[in-house]
Amino acid sequence: MNGRPAVLLDRDGTLTEPRHYPSSPAELVLQPGIGAPLRGLRELGVALVVVTNQSGLARGLFTPQDLDAMHRHLRSRLRALGVRLDGIYHCPHHPDGTVPELAVRCRCRKPGPGLLLRAAEDLHLDLARSWMVGDFASDVGAGRRAGCRTALVGPAAAEPDPDSPAPDLRAPTTARALELIAGAFGGTP
Ligand SMILES: [Mg+2]
Ligand SMILES: [Zn+2]
Repeated sequence: MNGRPAVLLDRDGTLTEPRHYPSSPAELVLQPGIGAPLRGLRELGVALVVVTNQSGLARGLFTPQDLDAMHRHLRSRLRALGVRLDGIYHCPHHPDGTVPELAVRCRCRKPGPGLLLRAAEDLHLDLARSWMVGDFASDVGAGRRAGCRTALVGPAAAEPDPDSPAPDLRAPTTARALELIAGAFGGTP
């Protein structure tokens, strides 16, 4: 394949600290220690892409304008660490939503692979050489369906669940997972 490898990152609980339906920029707080491994991955030519379920849009908890403000904030916090994102892809849907046009079954809500496939097409990514990093089994499921390797981080990584697809890598923190993935790409872990 000719595409670039990528690390596809879940947002809430992976790139940022876990919050229940964050709806304002101040609620997006980056996880500790991720600046150096993210810069290292970029130096290795790895694209960095956020893929996030935002069913709060379908539930009417915040607006697309609120989400834009949150993502401008996220990009600026990362820029302060010397990290540029190649893209942010979100699923606004949920079958039980209250906003009629978003209350649908879709292919982009993780564990569906739609966000990853869209990112791969837009950004010319080689998914077979890419990793999906997330804190939920749905992130692992989406990554596997898209043909990526997968890393599970945070509390769920400590409790293997026989009913969920097994990740290729488990790590207690996002920073540690990114260091291990950079090592797998040939960088210094
Ligand atoms: Mg998450
Ligand atoms: Zn969707």
